[in-house]
Amino acid sequence: MHAIGIDIGGTKIAGAVVDELGGIVRRNRRPSPAGDGERIVETVAEMIEELAGDEPVIAAGVAAAGFVDSAQSTVYYAPNLDWRNEPLRERLEARLGLPIVVDNDANAAGWAEFRFGAGRLVSDMCMLTIGTGVGGAIVSGDRLFRGGFGSGGELGHLRLVPDGLPCGCGQRGCIEQYGSGRALLRIAGGIADEEAAGIGRALAAARAERPLDGESVGALIQAGDPGALEALGRLGRNLGEACATLSAVLDPQRFVFGGGVSIAGELLLAPIREAFAAHLPARGFHPEPDFVIAEFVNDAGIVGAADLARVWVAERA
Ligand SMILES: [Zn+2]
Repeated sequence: MHAIGIDIGGTKIAGAVVDELGGIVRRNRRPSPAGDGERIVETVAEMIEELAGDEPVIAAGVAAAGFVDSAQSTVYYAPNLDWRNEPLRERLEARLGLPIVVDNDANAAGWAEFRFGAGRLVSDMCMLTIGTGVGGAIVSGDRLFRGGFGSGGELGHLRLVPDGLPCGCGQRGCIEQYGSGRALLRIAGGIADEEAAGIGRALAAARAERPLDGESVGALIQAGDPGALEALGRLGRNLGEACATLSAVLDPQRFVFGGGVSIAGELLLAPIREAFAAHLPARGFHPEPDFVIAEFVNDAGIVGAADLARVWVAERA
C-alpha cells in the first residue's frame, strides 16, 4: 500500500503519494501560509485528503523544521511557525482517521537517503544538509537516531569554535556558522576584502554589482575562480573537521552531504576529506568512512516522511 509524505517548508508545502520503493506516484503543492500554524494544519489535512483520493493509504508522514518529540507526534517548537507544543498527530488523526507520523525535516531527508539513496548500502550513516543552515540526520544500526526526547541529531549546532561566531540557537561557534550556505557567503566576502587585488578580485567585482549570493558565488565556483574555490575549500575544511569529531562518536560508514551547496560535488568533498584525515582521532588504527553527495534532489523530505510513516505502522502491526 502507498503512504503519503508531506514536507512543510518556509515558502511551500509539498506532498506526494509514495510507493514502497520510494517512488513518487502523484504529488501536489501549495504555498505555505507561513507563520500561521492554524492554517498550516488545515492546509496539510486538505492536501492529505486530496492526495489519498479514493485509494486506501497506509499512513501519512509530515516533516517540518523544528523539534519533534521522540513519539513522533508533537512539534515542541518550529522556528518559522507559531507552533509551541503543537499536538500535530492528534489533530490530523482526529480529522483524517489515518495514522499520522511527524518528524523533523532533516531527519526525513536523511531517512530517504538511507532507505533509497546514497546511504542504502550501509547500516550507519550521517547526513549533513548544507543549505542556508546546516541540518543533520543520524542513522545508527539501521535506525534513525532521535535521542531520548526527540531533539537529537542537530548536527548543525555541534560546537566547532569555542567562543566563535554567535548562532541563531543562542550559542556560539556552531558548525552552522562555519559550514552553511550563509557561511560560504561570509567567507567569500572575507576573501573579497582581504584579497581584492589577488584571488578575491572576481568576488570583489561580483559584489560591486550586487551583494554576494548563492547564485553569484556558485557561478564563480563553477567557472573555477580561485577566490570562490578558496571559500568553498575553507567551508569544506570546516565541515571535514566537524566530521572527524562526529566520527569519534558515531563511527558511521558513510557521510552524505545534501542541500544547495552540495551541488559543488567533488569540489566540496575534496577539502572535507582532507580536513577529516587531518583531524580524525587515532587515524590508521580503524576503518574510515567515505564521503558522498546525496542522491535525492528535491523530494527527500517527502519520500522520507512517507517511509517513516510506513515504518511506524509496520512496527506496530
Ligand atoms: Zn547553533
